Amino acid sequence: MNETTTWNIDIQTALIEWFDRSARTLPWRSYSNPYAIWLSEVILQQTRVAQGRAYWEKFMTEFPTLQSLAEAPSEKVMGLWAGLGYYSRARNLHATAKIIAELGDFPNNAKDLQSLPGIGPYTAAAIASIAFKQVIPALDGNAFRVYTRLFALADCIDLPSTQKIIAHKSLPLLDPLRPGDSNQAIMDLGAQICTPTQPKCIDCPLAFACEAFRRGTQTDFPMKKSKKVAKQVSMTLHVIMRKDKIAVIKRPSKGIWGDLWCFPEELPETIPVIEGLRKRHLLTHLDLDVHFPESHAPSLWIEPQWEWVDPNVLQHRAIPVPIRWWLEEKNYI
Ligand code: SF4
Repeated sequence: MNETTTWNIDIQTALIEWFDRSARTLPWRSYSNPYAIWLSEVILQQTRVAQGRAYWEKFMTEFPTLQSLAEAPSEKVMGLWAGLGYYSRARNLHATAKIIAELGDFPNNAKDLQSLPGIGPYTAAAIASIAFKQVIPALDGNAFRVYTRLFALADCIDLPSTQKIIAHKSLPLLDPLRPGDSNQAIMDLGAQICTPTQPKCIDCPLAFACEAFRRGTQTDFPMKKSKKVAKQVSMTLHVIMRKDKIAVIKRPSKGIWGDLWCFPEELPETIPVIEGLRKRHLLTHLDLDVHFPESHAPSLWIEPQWEWVDPNVLQHRAIPVPIRWWLEEKNYI
């Protein structure tokens, strides 16, 4: 037996022993039939356990079998779901019940389960491992947090490649005889011990093997995509008046403020300019420092791209936020 295998088995054992000792008591855990497990997983997808438990009990009372759910009128299913939100889950639940009833057998592996409406990779793995003992890690946000800390995995968790690494590295940590319990142990650890901001490592059954705990860097994981810093750009928008009209230009379709009406960015001829207002404007990727120098155009000046408009009515055109701001500052709005 090599060292890696020993390490894996130590973790398998620690997880299962902890689960037997400290697992949360949840009503669906006393069921081995896939219908009851699937129902719990769908209800818990965007719902806290405390709220989900009551709904699971209502559904199990009203529809104790998959067949009874499949045959129920949709208004009854939706009515029972009322208050849980995300109603597409209820529609998918009902549609999937009908498909499985038609198939005759509940699909018994993650791949087939994933082909059903409303069942993603995590739910498929959870059902397959708990109900059918398929050895496959069920990876949701809690599991990703626990595993990235355990391995001190510095790759960005948003990347599919990172999630693949975790799936690969976590597979041998599942007890081959009780993969569902191993997965549920990780779910419970993530919910109760290895929490996002204050993991209780002292109570954690995996502390002996946890690399982040050893380094004292638990809350550095999982690594998230760092937010891009907006690029700082200086922009000049010339406020050019001719009599009581102001020059505007329709911006090209592509690029910033595509197809909006704006002040020209350039002066085609040299004319006297006075410093005008200045405005900082943040876009998703740009931190704009916009200058509004002011000038008066000679009366015969014609620029084919420009339109001379009354500034009092400019607000009724499609204009960027800084132009609206300028109009407000100058009391045109
Ligand atoms: S030792 Fe701490 S950081 Fe590591 S898995 Fe346990 S609770 Fe999470």
